Amino acid sequence: MTIDIQEYNRVLDEMLLGLETLRSWDRPVVLDILRPMLNVLHVAKFCWVFYPNERAEAERSGRETQLFSEGSPDMNRPYVSREMNPGGSIMIYSFYADRDKAEWDAEDLEKLHTVEKVIFSFHGRVRLINLVEERTYTDFQLNTRNMLYIMRLAAQLLFKKEICDYGLVCFNLKGFSLVNTRVGREAGTMVMSRFVQQLEGKLKPPGAIGRMGGDNFVGVFRKSDLDIVRTHLSGTGIVYNDDTGERVNISAVAGYYLPEDLDELRHKDDLMDRVTMAVNVARRVHDTMEIFYSAALQEKQTEQKRIERQFPDALVRNEFKVYYQPKVNITDYTMAGAEALCRWVKDGEVLLPGAFIPVLEQSMNICLLDFYMLEHVCCDIRRWLDQGRKPVRVSVNLSRRHLGDMDLVEHIIDIIDRNYVPHELLEIELTETTTEVEFADLKRVVNSLQEHGICTSVDDFGTGYSSLNLIKEISWNVLKLDKAFLPLMAQSAFTSDNIMLRHVIALARDMGLECIMEGVETKEHVDLLIENKCYLAQGFYFDKPLPVYEYEKRLDKQKEIYCEEGKREQ
Ligand code: C2E
Ligand code: MG
Ligand code: MG
Repeated sequence: MTIDIQEYNRVLDEMLLGLETLRSWDRPVVLDILRPMLNVLHVAKFCWVFYPNERAEAERSGRETQLFSEGSPDMNRPYVSREMNPGGSIMIYSFYADRDKAEWDAEDLEKLHTVEKVIFSFHGRVRLINLVEERTYTDFQLNTRNMLYIMRLAAQLLFKKEICDYGLVCFNLKGFSLVNTRVGREAGTMVMSRFVQQLEGKLKPPGAIGRMGGDNFVGVFRKSDLDIVRTHLSGTGIVYNDDTGERVNISAVAGYYLPEDLDELRHKDDLMDRVTMAVNVARRVHDTMEIFYSAALQEKQTEQKRIERQFPDALVRNEFKVYYQPKVNITDYTMAGAEALCRWVKDGEVLLPGAFIPVLEQSMNICLLDFYMLEHVCCDIRRWLDQGRKPVRVSVNLSRRHLGDMDLVEHIIDIIDRNYVPHELLEIELTETTTEVEFADLKRVVNSLQEHGICTSVDDFGTGYSSLNLIKEISWNVLKLDKAFLPLMAQSAFTSDNIMLRHVIALARDMGLECIMEGVETKEHVDLLIENKCYLAQGFYFDKPLPVYEYEKRLDKQKEIYCEEGKREQ
């Protein structure tokens, strides 16, 4: 056979170049690259058989792939070459000449041999890439995909401009440490793996779920599968014991992003940023299982970032002010105490705590603010004492964020003593806890404060997860009942709310706890309190939180400030 050597060299160059840039075995593409060479060599059929090992080869149980078949192959005299991979698997390549063309001579076979070697090395490279990819994109502990896989998938969909047909989800399994405790670590891992694999199994291709780490996952799914994802994540029973079929309910807190406008998305990181932002918000917001990304959410986040950024300077510039809200004894209408509440005076505007405390609570910044407040309250009390005024006990709010701090009480006492403030003039308000660890910390802090003669109160009692344990196990001085106990308008005294109120007040009294009602706004509220023998009240009916100079006026009067009608005419 006469093969044009120049043509052969040119086609060989092109083939090498084509294969070099190829990273995966994309059949039509590979065929396009090889076809010119197979034509030059007058090959009519090209195929190979893969044997995983020599035994399979002896048993002839291999996997055959036919890549190319054009013209009329001479099936009797193929050029066959056997190759062995380093791992022991075997490839048998077979080239069949075109029956209508002249037979291959020695030189032709030499060229065929070269081409076969090139294809074999390409095969090896693809296998290596596949192996590396598998290593790169798999979570081997759970035998699921990982985050890199999902990021690559999202990037591909973005590149192909198909991303708006898909949604992204990021989720964190709820209370998984409890699942581990219940079923054991090993079964826990299996449960986690099954939960994720089952979800992926419900998705239409190429939908997939990958592990980010720990019990955090990210996924891409077709928008038409959104309800499937939401239902699965809202709670699915997963078998953890195959013998008994026992199941555990697994649910997740999730953030979703459903891209709608391709122009908004520049980079795959935008996708990840948005979906992780949504899940982070969902995790922070109490009682929320899912949050969808939106522009409004983004704006809120930006505002929160701004607050975090501005906070340190604002603290240095003393922009945070202590407001005092009097607590009133409703048997004689005297001022029995006050609560210190924070206000941020920013650019002439007074910001309420709701606008910044939740943000500061997401970091340890809240602790800096609380110490700042305590310091300023102590300064004020010291000044009032020095001026011959008669200050009443002031309560200061302390975030739960402090509880893990082993030096907290020392720090508090240090601030109080540095200002020479008698301990009985201070009270620390703490809210109930949600975890056992926090509960233990809370108990330690409250006991320690009391050893130093500082009063402690449970704030907002009756909201969230108030448990009787909280007041049974920890010896508080004061129970501050949340305004949720009060009827909104003049309701009947026999609503379930009022029954609760009556019993909680009685319970506090029997346990020797001082009891105060927050959010007292009307005369009916005051009457209800008297009827139920709760004699301390705080609320707008008497006074709003007051700036220090206003509060000082109350301090100076102390007696004739309040009456049945709330405030006396001044
Ligand atoms: P809180 O400790 O339960 O404070 C009582 C809140 O109820 C105050 O809101 C107060 O202004 C409001 N309030 C008082 N009387 C009435 C009433 O009659 N009706 C109604 N509807 N509300 C009334 P404020 O000042 O906006 O503070 C909100 C929360 O922010 C506080 O709730 C407290 O949890 C937190 N906070 C305020 N200052 C600080 C602080 O310095 N440190 C920490 N960690 N938290 C603070
Ligand atoms: Mg409070
Ligand atoms: Mg409160």
